[in-house]
Amino acid sequence: MDRLILAIDQGTTSTRAIAFADSPQGGFRSVAVSQIELAQHFPHSGWVEHDAAEIWHATLRTCRAVIAEAGGIDRFAAIGITNQRETAVLWDAASGEPLHRAIVWQDRRTADVTARLTAEGHEPMVQAATGLILDPYFSATKFAWLLDAVPGARARAARGEVRLGTIESWLIWKLTGGARHVTDATNASRTSLMDLETRQWRDDLCALFKVPREALPRILGCSDHFGDCDPALLGAALPIHGAAGDQQAALVAHGAMKPGDAKITYGTGAFLVANVGASPVISSRRLLGTLGYQLGDTAAWALEGSIFSAGSAIQWLRDGVGLLSDSAQSEAMARSLPGNGGVYLVPGFTGLGAPWWEPDARGTLTGLTRDSGPAHFVRAALEALAYQTRDLLDALAADGAPPLAVLRVDGGVTANAFAMQFIADICEVTVERPALQEMTALGAARLAAFGIGLIDNLSPAATEAPTVWTPRMDPADRARLIKGWQSAVRAAIIAAQ
Ligand code: ADP
Repeated sequence: MDRLILAIDQGTTSTRAIAFADSPQGGFRSVAVSQIELAQHFPHSGWVEHDAAEIWHATLRTCRAVIAEAGGIDRFAAIGITNQRETAVLWDAASGEPLHRAIVWQDRRTADVTARLTAEGHEPMVQAATGLILDPYFSATKFAWLLDAVPGARARAARGEVRLGTIESWLIWKLTGGARHVTDATNASRTSLMDLETRQWRDDLCALFKVPREALPRILGCSDHFGDCDPALLGAALPIHGAAGDQQAALVAHGAMKPGDAKITYGTGAFLVANVGASPVISSRRLLGTLGYQLGDTAAWALEGSIFSAGSAIQWLRDGVGLLSDSAQSEAMARSLPGNGGVYLVPGFTGLGAPWWEPDARGTLTGLTRDSGPAHFVRAALEALAYQTRDLLDALAADGAPPLAVLRVDGGVTANAFAMQFIADICEVTVERPALQEMTALGAARLAAFGIGLIDNLSPAATEAPTVWTPRMDPADRARLIKGWQSAVRAAIIAAQ
């Protein structure tokens, strides 16, 4: 048997399967890829749903395509899964069919529930227990909504007839032919129901959020044996030996295994995850306390901060305003100017994320003069990536997180060398972009490879050299620019009030 790993990367907009092979340098390389887009359903304003059955069928099709392309199931040693986090699924234990469309992480339908729990004073307890603030983003209120919306579901849950889970849990159930109802500790850490320290469900949280513990999956480590595939599905009883939420899988893929190691993924939004070491940190700056990974009984915790609009600001300039014909053009336009000319863009299109959490903030342009033109807007959008990252890193430092040696980056925006240099300059940190960009899938593959003993550690593999940007900005310039940004953020927040 060859030692290929089948990674399933179930994301918000598509489902992908990738076959990874060990490369002679000790890294991994992808040898086959299959991808299917996922339909998005918006039944009401603020509601976002996926069809869990569609996700399952796409998973099966992409896995079969990749197995065939890579030369057959006998070449594979294990499966690793990574997924969009927080998205909630309710299904029938007997038929294995979803009982409702899945509620996607972006969905705000339970905002009234979390607002009520906040008003009742529950947030400090929830944050101390789970690391998370009270927000509809997390799975608990979505699970409860599903149980209330589907007729008879609560009564059936009490009789053990229905199952709840996030996407990896749903896929493992289907892949094992209904034999295993399990989750991994990183996905569980995003539900608001798991004690961040002990990594077990808590009865008081289940009671608070009205989610019956019996309907929840068992929590395992990220490289544990999650079950074996039903041989009728893929042609063999391949073991599922890796699972982690997408951002945590990227953390593992970057080899960010020590306290002070951090990664940020710059896609539509941006997600910073910083390894804080062998015990949980509860943020005083509205970052999220979360699990980095669990390997056997060893766990590493992390702090996380999300930027809602990163690449989407460039998309807006391209598709909404028509200033760019493609995203890559933004680099030359930004470089055409000697500086930002005092123009700042706060991309609060959908509110501001960490550390502000201002859902009502809106996009704001400041510092315009008669000299301001298209290049200023584009440059301001790229510079905003750096200022927002700096805000997150300052919050991390204020929370007592270990200082960052290097900021590891991935995602579509990292193709922009101007933006990456500007991030290094404003954040005063070395920025490193690995040669391989499939970080979430790679993380799942490495966890599975570790789980079956194919690799003996998860430290960074000796792959192709990364691209590196080091800080070189004059400190006085940096201080002046950051001051301008802070005024612009104040304007964006005041405009929302
Ligand atoms: P996601 O996974 O969230 O869909 P990707 O990692 O594929 O996102 O990145 C896509 C984003 O990257 C888009 O918002 C796009 O505007 C942005 N992007 C792509 N190339 C560049 C570039 N050269 N400069 C700036 N932004 C870019």
